[in-house]
Amino acid sequence: MHSQYAQIMAGLYIHIPFCKSRCIYCNFYSTTHADMRQRYVDALCREMEMRCPLPSSAFGKELETIYLGGGTPSQLTIPQLKQLFLYINKVYPHSSLHTREFTIEMNPDDVTAPYAKALSQLGINRVSMGAQTFDNERLHFLHRRHTSEQVAEAVSRLRAVGIQNISIDLMYGFPNETIEDWQRDIDAALALNVEHISAYCLMIEEGTPLWKWKKVNGEWAMDEELERQMYELLIDKLTAAGYEHYEISNFAKPGYRSRHNSSYWHDIPYIGLGAAAHSYMPVDYAGSVPAASTAGSTSRSWNVADIRQYIDTIEQGERPCEEEIIDEDTHYNDRITTALRTSDGLDLTTLSDNHRRYCLREAQRYINDGQLKLAGNRLSLTRKGLFVSDYVMSSLIMVD
Ligand code: SF4
Repeated sequence: MHSQYAQIMAGLYIHIPFCKSRCIYCNFYSTTHADMRQRYVDALCREMEMRCPLPSSAFGKELETIYLGGGTPSQLTIPQLKQLFLYINKVYPHSSLHTREFTIEMNPDDVTAPYAKALSQLGINRVSMGAQTFDNERLHFLHRRHTSEQVAEAVSRLRAVGIQNISIDLMYGFPNETIEDWQRDIDAALALNVEHISAYCLMIEEGTPLWKWKKVNGEWAMDEELERQMYELLIDKLTAAGYEHYEISNFAKPGYRSRHNSSYWHDIPYIGLGAAAHSYMPVDYAGSVPAASTAGSTSRSWNVADIRQYIDTIEQGERPCEEEIIDEDTHYNDRITTALRTSDGLDLTTLSDNHRRYCLREAQRYINDGQLKLAGNRLSLTRKGLFVSDYVMSSLIMVD
């Protein structure tokens, strides 16, 4: 049996793969074909029912967080969101309204006053918005639909309807961006006084329009030293402003860490609905029939990343997914690449004796070098280790 999650059903993730337009850096699965939205929402409701073969008392009351991600969930109409929430309440009737975190990802330009009001009436208590940068030229370059002014307007509108948990995403590492440019973006983000900030270096994913742009416009590689300085500045400024740096790319005011995303890093089960959505849960809860040899194991499954195929298959009463049973070594590797991302680190008592010994043996040189620290049974990255986190984590995983 893996770590002590058996009694917790942490998260419900619902993927909404629609975008009004595509951003040039994005390689997430989504489509601009809005005409399929209603059939898709109907299919999501059907999948919810199909994936709940156990009595709700078996896990319904432990559903702690709900996360509508995308894509752009704010591309759904309010009646479509209402339909989803009706089904959530029908399928998980015992979910606690008091403890759960209910997040929707939005584009700032979708936050109209009526839409914000409707969200709060539906019980959504957290909004995550892709601000990315407050430089309108760079937003235009990224093919984002919004302007920097719209981010501030969106925050005001959400506050006005009582949403007190707002997260924004930022990006750094644009072509020709200077440290002063980045400082202005951080200052603009701090001025919004939001509860949570995520920040990522702009990545060039193969096949995206940005990747093609780079091919045409010649080499553009982020200077490693500048990237490091930008990350240092981010940490310094946000922690000085009272944010906890609780995951490599995530910062939160005290009490506002993302509960849903934390479940991914702390080995807590979640169920994912919709095209391309992933699920992670004990085999007994996965909706599959466990073989005796897999009882007590964990299953990871993922739905097909194709909206039409997803809808067609669900309409025929089947779930279009692949599934793998996670063996102990894979589970150990997953723990290394998730828990070590967090300031809480990896609780070594959750590992088997063999894996704990292996982990400590491999970690020792990084502890000696000051890139990892061991406090009691918790192993975590130091600030020095944050800059080489991929390298450290890859050194700790088990290979065949
Ligand atoms: S809105 Fe989000 S999901 Fe859609 S293309 Fe842009 S970055 Fe990707």
